[in-house]
Amino acid sequence: MKMTLSGDFCDFCNVRGKHPWTYKVKRFEMATIISDEGIEKHISGDWGACNICHDLIENNKWDDLINRVLDKQNIPHGPIRKEMFITIAELYETFRQHRVGTVTKDYGSRADEEKF
Ligand SMILES: [Zn+2]
Repeated sequence: MKMTLSGDFCDFCNVRGKHPWTYKVKRFEMATIISDEGIEKHISGDWGACNICHDLIENNKWDDLINRVLDKQNIPHGPIRKEMFITIAELYETFRQHRVGTVTKDYGSRADEEKF
């Protein structure tokens, strides 16, 4: 599945709903993440983020963000989760290196509804 700019998912945690935040990212080749359920993502270009992921990113809480991503995919604690954690950490490191400009918010979105 290819994630597109206007996809109705958060590009981090995959939560459905229009994502209010957009991070501009220079295109880069990335590894494919395949979870237990066979979820496959190739992300390049702009990344959308929900409010919660945006907060974690802006506060440099990358470990919390990765755990959120894994929780949303129902990945149980264990060796597979540890491996995925490392893979995602590497992906987000690449994300940080390729980020350009400032994050922008689309105020017309309605993804503010999700609460902790
Ligand atoms: Zn999110």
